Amino acid sequence: MIRIPITMCHGINPNGDYPLTAEHLEKLAKIAADMNFQSIDYNQLSRWFEGEELPSRPIMFDFDHPVKSMRYEMHDVLAKYGYSGNLFINTGPINELYAAPLPPDNRREIMTWDEIGELIESGWHIGAHTVTHPNLSQLSLEDPSGEKLRAELEQCDETLKKHLGITAEDFAFTGTSWSSIAEREVSKRYRFGRLWIVGTEYQVDGKTMRYAELVGVDAPDEADGGPPMAARYITKDSHRYRLPSMEIQRSLIYAPDAFRRYLEGALVS
Ligand SMILES: [Zn+2]
Repeated sequence: MIRIPITMCHGINPNGDYPLTAEHLEKLAKIAADMNFQSIDYNQLSRWFEGEELPSRPIMFDFDHPVKSMRYEMHDVLAKYGYSGNLFINTGPINELYAAPLPPDNRREIMTWDEIGELIESGWHIGAHTVTHPNLSQLSLEDPSGEKLRAELEQCDETLKKHLGITAEDFAFTGTSWSSIAEREVSKRYRFGRLWIVGTEYQVDGKTMRYAELVGVDAPDEADGGPPMAARYITKDSHRYRLPSMEIQRSLIYAPDAFRRYLEGALVS
């Protein structure tokens, strides 16, 4: 069975215990390239679920938030190895950027629409990530009707359509939050919903739950502080609206050796 490794990060972030610099990302991209992994996007993933072939060693590089380093450091490092990413955009920060005169480039942290257009031209895939980035678990308690969430999804999609000319078909849930209501609404609009693995737990319908339980993997969490290995890859058995992604800036796959082991785990059949 094909297992697709999938990474996630929020762009360059030199802070914290696991700083992400262009140099560090390049170490990881080179490992993937040396192992002959080829990046795929959500269109390929969708066709695969419908029976088409994938490259023999597929990998997904996912990114959340429209920060400027996506267009520059992240894009440039991936492009050097023939890779492109999947970027999920929360539109609120871009709306704010354009609500005032644009700051000078060296003080601007959010991408312009032109920069996002350049990513698309170079093969990046764009998905939706709400407008205001609410905690979806919390929101489901505050608004059981789902009305606020529907408005978030509609407005995000409208903005992406207006400025990029695309119809978002894929969605990334915000933070480590999920709700039954959100999944119901997301499944009406999009092909896929993607989660984010930073540890073993998730916020679900106002409660804390094991990630493994949410995605229906019946196995214990691993000693490295993450969910069972089987929960860390996309397979044909994956729930389309509960896809995994592995955060780079955590212990699970940050170190080059840990990253290599993650990719090797995809090759075990
Ligand atoms: Zn986010």
